[in-house]
Amino acid sequence: PLDLEKFCRELIEDIQTADKNQHPLNFNIQGALSEVNIDDKLLRHILVNLLTNATKYSPENTPVSFSVACQENKIIFEIKDSGIGIPVEDQQRLFDAFHRATNVGSIPGTGLGLAIVKRSVDLHGGTITVHSEIRVGTTFTVVLPMKLE
Ligand code: ATP
Ligand code: MG
Repeated sequence: PLDLEKFCRELIEDIQTADKNQHPLNFNIQGALSEVNIDDKLLRHILVNLLTNATKYSPENTPVSFSVACQENKIIFEIKDSGIGIPVEDQQRLFDAFHRATNVGSIPGTGLGLAIVKRSVDLHGGTITVHSEIRVGTTFTVVLPMKLE
């Protein structure tokens, strides 16, 4: 089983080290975390993509928060930024390969990260949802079963 708290703390450190724009990263654990039977490489891939997007699409020094909770047989991750936001008309297409929103300006990217994340979340019986407001910020929520199928 994976020690979820230790795993998340190490992940945050790695993201922080790689973040040139020094966003304060707040890590939040809600309640007690269970030991989970989940593949650490898969989980890392999902979370690195979402956390890297959160830092990439938000101005320097604005906070990014990452929270994790275990509820019943599910793990819930929330990645929240105070960045550029995503126009409503792009929100449902973000998970399509190569789709990038109209407001990315000169921020580089290929539009593949979320397509792959969505596919691996689906394959493992989870869900991913987005809430976003332009120039206010974006929150992605990932819910995964504790025992991956
Ligand atoms: P890469 O393949 O390198 O990850 P990318 O970041 O452009 O490139 P995705 O991660 O798939 O691609 O994201 C798709 C699009 O969704 C982005 O181009 C951007 O328009 C939008 N997006 C994703 N995350 C955020 C976020 N946190 N804030 C604002 N826009 C976002
Ligand atoms: Mg990306």
